[in-house]
Amino acid sequence: MKGMLLKNEPLNKYTSWRVGGPAEQMYLPADREDLISFVKSLDGEQVIFWLGLGSNLLVRDGGIKGTIINTRGRLKAMQKLENGNIYVEAGVPCAHVARFCTELGLTGAEFLAGIPGTMGGALKMNAGAFGGETWSIVDKAEMLNAEGTVIQRQKDEFEVAYRCVKTRANEWFLAAELKLQAGESQHSQQQIKALLEKRALTQPTNKPTCGSVFMNPEGDFAARLIESCGLKGYQIGGACVSEKHANFIENTGTATAADIEALIAYVQQQVKLQQQVELKTEVCTVGESL
Ligand SMILES: Cc1cc2nc3c(=O)[nH]c(=O)nc-3n(C[C@H](O)[C@H](O)[C@H](O)COP(=O)(O)OP(=O)(O)OC[C@H]3O[C@@H](n4cnc5c(N)ncnc54)[C@H](O)[C@@H]3O)c2cc1C
Repeated sequence: MKGMLLKNEPLNKYTSWRVGGPAEQMYLPADREDLISFVKSLDGEQVIFWLGLGSNLLVRDGGIKGTIINTRGRLKAMQKLENGNIYVEAGVPCAHVARFCTELGLTGAEFLAGIPGTMGGALKMNAGAFGGETWSIVDKAEMLNAEGTVIQRQKDEFEVAYRCVKTRANEWFLAAELKLQAGESQHSQQQIKALLEKRALTQPTNKPTCGSVFMNPEGDFAARLIESCGLKGYQIGGACVSEKHANFIENTGTATAADIEALIAYVQQQVKLQQQVELKTEVCTVGESL
C-alpha cells in the first residue's frame, strides 16, 4: 500500500466540533487506485466508515470501531470532461469546486463555496445552501463497494431527499460528474462573495461547530423554534447553543461529545414540549459512548 495506516487515531483532530474518541484504524489513501487496492485487501467483515472534512459529524467519545477511510487532502482530482461535465473526486473541498466552476464560466455550483466539507460529504448529505443543492447539479456518480469494485451509477439510481441521500449498503462515493450551465464568471464571483458575507454575518463561522444541527421542519426553521424556546446561550458542560444562530451548537473549548449529545437531546425535548415540533438531527452521530 502507498497510503498511510494509522492505529488508534484520535478523531477530535478530524472533526469540526473538535470532539470524538479514537478510530481503531484509519487509512489515508495515496490516490484512487491505492484506495481500491486497500479496500480489496480488507476482509469482508470489517466495518468501513468514510470521513471527509468531519464538518457534519458527531463522533462519540468512545471512538469508532473498524476502519476509517479518510479522504481529507486525498482523492482530489478535478477536471472538465469532453462532454462538458465536471469530474470531481470525493476528497475535493466544496469551496474548490465552486471556484473551479466559476473560473470556467459555469454557473450552478456557487452555493458550494461556503460549505466546509468535501464533495464526498456533500454527495452523501445532499448539502445545500441559499437555494442551491448538491444533487441538483449531479449527473452521475462513481461508487466504490466493500469488495473494491468501482460502479458507475446514474442520478436516478439514488433516493435523494433534504440533507439525505440513500446509498446501497457498503457503497461509497469515489467521484461525481456535475452538469452545470454556461454562466458569467464575474457574476458567479459576486454571488459567492455575497453568500460568504451573509454567512459570516449570520453564523458563528469562527467557532468549532458542525453547521446546522437540526433539519428545518416543513414550513418552519429549526433556529426560529429553538430561539423561541429561549435556548440561545443554553449550555451543558462545554457545549452551548450559539447566541449568533440558534441552530448551531458551539464547543466553547472543553466540550465532550457526550455534552453535545446531551444538549441536542435537551433542545429536542424543549422544542417538543414548548412548540409541539419534533426536531430531527441533520448531523450524523457515530461511534461508541464511553
Ligand atoms: C460552519 C459550517 C457551516 C455549514 N454549512 C452548511 C450548509 O450551508 N449546508 C449544508 O448542507 N451543510 C453545511 N454544513 C455541514 C457540512 O459542511 C456538510 O454536511 C458537508 O457536506 C459535510 O461534508 P464532510 O466532507 O465534512 O463530511 P463528513 O462530516 O466527514 O461526513 C458526513 C457524512 O458523509 C459521509 N461521507 C463522507 N464522505 C463520503 C464519501 N466519499 N462517500 C460516502 N459517504 C461519505 C460520512 O460517512 C458521514 O456519514 C456546515 C458545517 C459547518 C461546520
